[in-house]
Amino acid sequence: MGIFALQIRTIKEMLNWRVSLDIILITIVIFFLYQTLRATGTWKIASGILIASLIFVFARFLDLRGIDWIYSNLSQILLLALIVIFQPELRKIFERAATLKRKETTSEGSKLAFLVSDVVFSLARQKNGALIVFPGKDSIKPWTSEGIPLQAKPSYPILMSIFDTHSPGHDGAVVIENGLITSFAVRLPLSETEKLPKEFGTRHNAGMGLSEVTDTLIVVVSEERGTVTCFKEGARESMHDRNTLAASIMRHWKNTESYQLLNSYEKNQKKLLKEIALSFVLAFLFWSTVVLTQSELREVVYHVPIEYVSMPKNMRINEENPSEAQIVLLGTANDINAINPSQLKATIDLSSIKPGLNSLTIQDESISLPENIKFIRSNPSRLTFEAIKFTEIAANVKPQFIGNLPEGFSIDSIQVVPRAIPVWIPAENAKNEMNLLTTPIYLDNLKQSTTLYCNIIVPAELQLAHRQLPLVEIRIIIKKM
Ligand code: ATP
Ligand code: MG
Repeated sequence: MGIFALQIRTIKEMLNWRVSLDIILITIVIFFLYQTLRATGTWKIASGILIASLIFVFARFLDLRGIDWIYSNLSQILLLALIVIFQPELRKIFERAATLKRKETTSEGSKLAFLVSDVVFSLARQKNGALIVFPGKDSIKPWTSEGIPLQAKPSYPILMSIFDTHSPGHDGAVVIENGLITSFAVRLPLSETEKLPKEFGTRHNAGMGLSEVTDTLIVVVSEERGTVTCFKEGARESMHDRNTLAASIMRHWKNTESYQLLNSYEKNQKKLLKEIALSFVLAFLFWSTVVLTQSELREVVYHVPIEYVSMPKNMRINEENPSEAQIVLLGTANDINAINPSQLKATIDLSSIKPGLNSLTIQDESISLPENIKFIRSNPSRLTFEAIKFTEIAANVKPQFIGNLPEGFSIDSIQVVPRAIPVWIPAENAKNEMNLLTTPIYLDNLKQSTTLYCNIIVPAELQLAHRQLPLVEIRIIIKKM
């Protein structure tokens, strides 16, 4: 079977709601198992479970009976043990799943963009000059001075303090990277083009300069005019309100992928979706490999005894009939594993046999099989044998005397119990009279009345029907002359 054939079959099988539900439940199990392991960090136990599962899958594939037995008989106990061991962790997970709710609605990115816009327009209103740099993908290091390094979370007071004209660090630019102020009082390269109108001085030129050589966004507040200008890719754009500026900053982050705009809720959602998708893929693969191959039909061969039943009372068959047959059965691995081979047998119903040659086939009715197992063929498939019709007659029991009584003694009487025995003889040889001889009784030394127990010699024509006849009691009454 090709690599994807199983997957394609699984997709087709998923049209059945049971299969879909099965896969969804396996997905949930894998997902919660993963969550537990991540939450508890019990990777040692996890790898143990993983190895055990792999051995199980391997054993199933190779049809290793012993391992299979251990798993199928002990798996419930193992599962219970796992639930007990992981009970505290499982509780934590279920509690967390229940309280999963929306915590933050606005992203950190948009918060920062609006914070910077607020600072910028406050400074503009106060006619306080400012220069803020938002690097994109390109490094600005080759073009700028180091400035004063800082790792600070941007806030209104910090930014206002930095650009306060009384502060020693207000000259130069502030760099905001990855949501942090990383330096201030940074010198930027001046533009060498003559694009800017005369009224713009060195601050605007510096903004233009850096935007020409990198993908940086630079926001400039004019000290003289109280205006806000953005520089990007060597172009200048005036900003008239905080929303436009915030949108520009966010667009810059998004286009250069330089700052994560997603808020943590969205991030969590994405991660959760990824994990669920991964769990689903694992469940799907599990189903398409383990479950489908287990439900794949296969043939197995068994040697079973043949049992002949329901022989009519007046029929006998010759004895050289096969006592064992090789049968081939078809079923899924699961159904085949459920068979107990020692209980399999082929039962041949003789109720309808006729005198002479008979031919009976071993067929599925001959073998009692579980519902989903199919009988394919048998070797031998046909049993041929001769049946003989018998008839019942009463045969007389005749004691077989050898020799004579000693001189002076004679037999007074003989009692034989039973006197006659009902026997079955082939119908074709049936005659009115039949005598059965006992084993020899020697008279030579007999001087007193005796009771003997003798066997009956079974004549050839009786052998098929009677292997053993009852003992006969013979009472000989002797008199002295
Ligand atoms: P404004 O409209 O605010 O007057 P401007 O474009 O006319 O700005 P200047 O008046 O020359 O520029 O502003 C000088 C200020 O610009 C300096 O005090 C300094 O803070 C800043 N500045 C000048 N050159 C640079 C530079 N290369 N890098 C960073 N900042 C600079
Ligand atoms: Mg000026």
